[in-house]
Amino acid sequence: MGRAFVYVIVGGGVAAGYAAHEFVKRGVSHGELCIISEESVAPYERPALSKGYLLPEDPARLPSFHCCVGSNEEKLTPKYYKEHGIELILNTQVKSADVRRNTLQTATGETISYKILIVATGARPLKLEEFGVSGSDAANVCYLRDMVDAERLVNVMQSSSGGNAIVIGGGYIGMECAASLAINKLNVTMVFPEAHCMARLFTTKIASYYEEFYKSRGVKFIKGTVLTSFDFNTDGKVTAVNLRDGSKLPADMVVIGIGIRPNTSLFEGQLTLEKGGIKVNGSMQSSNSSIYAVGDVAAFPVKIFGETRRLEHVDCARKSARHAVAAIMEPEKTGEFDYLPFFYSRVFTLSWQFYGDNIGEVFHFGDFSGKTFGAYWIHNGHLVGSFLEGGTKEQYEAIAHATKLKPAIEDVTELERQGLGFALSM
Ligand code: FAD
Ligand code: NDP
Repeated sequence: MGRAFVYVIVGGGVAAGYAAHEFVKRGVSHGELCIISEESVAPYERPALSKGYLLPEDPARLPSFHCCVGSNEEKLTPKYYKEHGIELILNTQVKSADVRRNTLQTATGETISYKILIVATGARPLKLEEFGVSGSDAANVCYLRDMVDAERLVNVMQSSSGGNAIVIGGGYIGMECAASLAINKLNVTMVFPEAHCMARLFTTKIASYYEEFYKSRGVKFIKGTVLTSFDFNTDGKVTAVNLRDGSKLPADMVVIGIGIRPNTSLFEGQLTLEKGGIKVNGSMQSSNSSIYAVGDVAAFPVKIFGETRRLEHVDCARKSARHAVAAIMEPEKTGEFDYLPFFYSRVFTLSWQFYGDNIGEVFHFGDFSGKTFGAYWIHNGHLVGSFLEGGTKEQYEAIAHATKLKPAIEDVTELERQGLGFALSM
């Protein structure tokens, strides 16, 4: 049994949704494109799962956050795919790929062939077991990657109302889930190995602002240690977490956010990999010219830094997907992907954006006891990264623009003095 398409997208997340939108904009014909996804719903804006989806009142639910509402464009409900003749094959895992034959094998035993394949398989959460701790499958231990996880997290959260939530990991999932759990009135404790939260991006000074804000909302921090084991009751539910520093914390629920691994396994040994992802060129094309990779799974040349990187953020998923489709449909008109890395988060009443790279020396500006402050990163005499909390649309656009220009910085004291004014004057 088999079907054949001109274009196949494997994976049905953010990148798949934006790729489908771009295919339609560029005139894909009915019946040419299919999306194969393990998930049971059409592509949606994954960032909603750790924010609006977890709100205690009026939480976000599908269809409100299908792609491409996250970039203020039309909402691609299942009807959209039908109307544009795009086959949405849901609840279907691709089990293997044969890049020499241009075929995919699904878990239902179907063979699907393609002329052009876009790999948009995203990533999977790292499990505790990979760090030697067992208990991931306990009923009150939650991960957060997809809708099934989010539904489960909401149920566990509601049944733990007023209780103790332990959040393991001080990265994006940890920070956003801790805020949501506190908003839902749980007693939240965050545990992570680093000296401060968001250690890969935030400076000590920036992190301290957020930690103080979290503390003012009742969140506790236990830093510099890791989870070593759980205590369970007779139902197999976790009742406490044990930490390497010898402490034991009672727990009604646990949320784990300790990083991800890109879903590359279908293509290992068949495509060139780099930085844990599928290596692609400036057209998002892999070592096999019929196969493109986009989103979390793609390692691509970031022109502004002159090196290959893999980025795990939604803006990159959206733009890399659009770029790949442009390169496929109109290669002669499409240049190399020229991407400025952009990360953001929203927690409680706070909201920050970061553009570029956080290497080199850092210079803070603004009022760290107030609402708007930020930082610039200077590397080899040039501005390479900018962070801003509490900015307006115009201010965020200004730091993005300034970072993209990579201006030479001759006088850092002047830069510090001007602060946000420096970006606004560019
Ligand atoms: P995904 O969106 O993960 O999609 C991958 C898809 O592939 C899934 O549908 C998966 O089921 C499917 N799949 C995988 N393997 C197979 C297979 N073998 N067969 C069939 N289907 C398969 N980024 C930000 O910049 N800002 C944010 O605020 C933000 N919030 C986030 C909140 C959460 C809870 C999470 C989990 C991520 C968040 N991110 C955020 C990161 C962002 O969502 C990802 O970078 C983005 O989703 C990557 O898009 P993608 O299409 O590459 O992967
Ligand atoms: P992150 O990589 O952001 O953070 C993982 C954190 O867990 C790091 O602080 C890491 O420390 C720590 N950690 C690693 N191992 C352990 C351990 N054994 N015990 C305790 N802590 C540990 O990953 P997340 O899981 O938070 O996020 C998953 C994905 O979702 C990422 O791709 C992220 O970009 C995305 N996401 C993005 C959001 C956004 O952009 N706003 C929001 C939500 C998710 P170390 O650095 O030392 O390894």
